[in-house]
Amino acid sequence: MKMGSKKRLVVKVGTNTLTDKTGFLDKSYLQVFTQQLARLAHSGHEVTLVSSGAIRVGMARLGIKKVRSLRESQAAAAVGQGLLIDIYNNLFQKEDITIAQVLLVADDFRVRSRYLNARNTLFTLFEKNVIPIINENDTISAEEIKFGDNDNLAAQVTGLVNAGTLVFLSDVDGLHERNGTKLGKRIRCIETITPEIEILAGKSASAHSRGGMITKIEGARIATEGGADTYIANGREENILARLLADEDVGTHFIPQARWRDSRKRWIGMSSAVNGTIVVDDGASNALMSSKKSLLAAGIVRAFGQFQAGDIVAVTTLQGEEIARGLVNYNVQEIEKLKGIHSRLFPQILGYQGNPEIVHRDNLFIFRHKKEGVYESE
Ligand code: GLU
Repeated sequence: MKMGSKKRLVVKVGTNTLTDKTGFLDKSYLQVFTQQLARLAHSGHEVTLVSSGAIRVGMARLGIKKVRSLRESQAAAAVGQGLLIDIYNNLFQKEDITIAQVLLVADDFRVRSRYLNARNTLFTLFEKNVIPIINENDTISAEEIKFGDNDNLAAQVTGLVNAGTLVFLSDVDGLHERNGTKLGKRIRCIETITPEIEILAGKSASAHSRGGMITKIEGARIATEGGADTYIANGREENILARLLADEDVGTHFIPQARWRDSRKRWIGMSSAVNGTIVVDDGASNALMSSKKSLLAAGIVRAFGQFQAGDIVAVTTLQGEEIARGLVNYNVQEIEKLKGIHSRLFPQILGYQGNPEIVHRDNLFIFRHKKEGVYESE
């Protein structure tokens, strides 16, 4: 990130960074943190904050030591979200900044009309110099359709608003090398997220937040695929955001992989809710990866899940590796009937002409990181 240029950036802050040991909001930290964000906003950057903390803060207020059910954590989130936004409102007001609360669920990213609505709202907030403060709408999102962690949500939001930068602020200062079980030195810059990098991330979720290094790496993968510089840094380090902006040697920087021109494809590729899977043979997988081909029935081996025409499906290899996502032209039962055959035979099977493509190239997003050397995603 270069100083001076105006950035649209998404900052995600985790529960452990915002709360003290008892689970209450750490007001003195929040004050310093909001001042940093306000300075960025006043210097012309368009800032979106993705803030966790609702469940933990709600638990503390309700005296809940350990949540015993989904509905208890959803109730805690309802209490905590209000407390969270109240303190942000007070602190940002002191900095002469207006905030907006935006609560999203996974379906808001899956249904294109809702995605576009959210996007338009956020763009309007930027025009009015408002800082949107986003969280998952935990109170209504059921377990199976949840984002689950705000690292994923923040990465999706980065795509939603076309942000060039995503910063994960956490209680660690970045991704570290490992010497056996010991933590080695911090990795300053990561060009590609390899399996080795994923292993370094290990497992580090805590009792009160869903995230950990692994979800940040996943988030970094989504955001860098979408063309955003992504950072993991310690939220408690002094003036951390400005220092990242000034390219100081802090945190871990993930280099963006692509600049996406087509926002529709971005939506397809980043959609967190995939309704089913289409498994393709090696020929089809190579055709998708190496040339701008549509997905045809001939290369399909099987389809599963509960999807309808117009839903988003994952396309995987025989080995189960996801290579693409696309908006599908047929439902799962139809694809099961059409798999392996040429489209000229479709009328005999379907009773009507139908689309020759199962997923048209224009509606197909190829994961470019999956195959080195072939960069096909537009
Ligand atoms: N949405 C959750 C909360 O506000 C946080 C999820 C996470 O920890 O990533 O409590």
